[in-house]
Amino acid sequence: MGNFVDNQLVASHSTRTAKVFNPATGEVSLSVSLSTIEETQAAITSAQTAFVTWSKVTPLNRARVLFKFKALVEENRHELAELIASEHGKVYSDAMGELTRGLEVVEFACGIPHLQKGEHSLNVGRGVDSYSLMQPLGVCAGISPFNFPAMVPMWMFPVSIACGNTFVMKPSEKDPSTIMRLAELLKEAGLPDGVFNVINGDKESVDVLLTDERVQAVSFVGSTPIAQYIYATASAHGKRVQALGGAKNHMLVMPDADPNQVVNSLMGAAYGSAGERCMAISVAVCVGDEVADNLIAKIQSEITTMTVGPGLYKQYGIENEPHMGPLVSKEHAQKVRDYITSGVDEGATLVVDGRDFVVKNHEQGYFVGPTLFDQVKAGMRIYDEEIFGPVLCVVRVDSYEEGLALINQHEYGNGTAIFTRDGDSARQFTENVQVGMVGVNVPIPVPMAFHSFGGWKRSLFGPLHMHGPDGVRFYTRMKTVTARWPTGLRAGPEFSMPTMK
Ligand code: NAD
Repeated sequence: MGNFVDNQLVASHSTRTAKVFNPATGEVSLSVSLSTIEETQAAITSAQTAFVTWSKVTPLNRARVLFKFKALVEENRHELAELIASEHGKVYSDAMGELTRGLEVVEFACGIPHLQKGEHSLNVGRGVDSYSLMQPLGVCAGISPFNFPAMVPMWMFPVSIACGNTFVMKPSEKDPSTIMRLAELLKEAGLPDGVFNVINGDKESVDVLLTDERVQAVSFVGSTPIAQYIYATASAHGKRVQALGGAKNHMLVMPDADPNQVVNSLMGAAYGSAGERCMAISVAVCVGDEVADNLIAKIQSEITTMTVGPGLYKQYGIENEPHMGPLVSKEHAQKVRDYITSGVDEGATLVVDGRDFVVKNHEQGYFVGPTLFDQVKAGMRIYDEEIFGPVLCVVRVDSYEEGLALINQHEYGNGTAIFTRDGDSARQFTENVQVGMVGVNVPIPVPMAFHSFGGWKRSLFGPLHMHGPDGVRFYTRMKTVTARWPTGLRAGPEFSMPTMK
């Protein structure tokens, strides 16, 4: 697989490639080129050229392309969901959910004539008006992770191109097919040549995007060490950057929470998409031993009813959709197993062990079974680090205050939730927790497209979140005009220092 530049599929001449796997079987499904420096520069050139005319297209007409794109994505949603599931491994309905969340950002971006209006003050001085223009930046770049091959790029490019920018997208090399198909649909929707380009590649391409002076802004989503590198490098080269990193999301379970609601919420939030979500709940913080004992008994029993299998189950003659698919790669599955072993070695209680989980007829697939730990403590690797797999850790605390302090001490601050029936605890928590996205009896509080998405602490580098109002601010720069029109023959010259009268 090559690139998509100037509205065309372009073969890459790179000698370096990466294999894309079907995680449910371990088979290689295709080989993707890791583009050269020159190929990445050519994509930037194409975007730079397109910017001259695209930035002058009226916001209404830019929005009309996105309206058409939305309709095309809906028409082709089954094919797109299958592409996601076949390379990522997540189950089909989850892939469809990801696509829907991405489409909601397209819907938001369709409102760009309203969103990009700017501000206007009449008579800031006598006969003087002041107004702001929210102008596009130029070429923007996006670098995305494997875990949402449609949704995360759709957090970025719809808002960016709606604002009048042009875009170069560097998707994850693990599941590149979905964004290539979306690029074709953008073309079909009428997007002019060069406005949206896809460069497949790795660090070599990314480094070009971070340092080329023609790129004005970089949006990144991925792991924290890379997010930090992206932020430091791109800002050192004068670009504006939003770099979203990893997570360790805690759910604080209060003694008055509805136990069934907690368990139902936790099952989906911990094990959905095999835990490969930046908003997955990976730590349940139980206030009191009774809460923890009940929760563990219930989750242990629920796990026995969970089904694990290929995301595209119908292809393999399986009647019902599994709850959870495989992990993305063999290496990642092994990394998750190693984390489980480290948890045992460091003294946590392994209640359910998913390490030796095998799916019949899919012995080569990258499956790890749902795993549950009790007696997890800060300082253990399974608590401190992001596992990004189907592993739920239960931490026991004696009080609300201890739970809040624990959450606030963690280096990550992406998402969190409190489960309680008490409005006062919920209010206290939402005000004082040091985390960017907070749920009250909602396990995965992902903001809707018309709000902005982003964490705190080492989960986000840069001041502005993705999509919503912050997205429009990120992809535009403000120019403020102060204007006075001469009153013709009536006005004489002014010799004193101008002040507003
Ligand atoms: P990753 O950091 O390995 O890769 C992300 C992107 O960076 C890919 O496109 C990859 O090609 C590129 N990349 C990798 N190494 C690089 C390097 N050395 N230099 C330059 N570019 C490099 O992340 P991943 O494994 O694809 O995705 C999982 C991670 O993403 C998890 O940590 C997860 O929490 C995070 N994530 C965060 C959010 C969020 O909103 N905060 C959302 C989704 C995923």
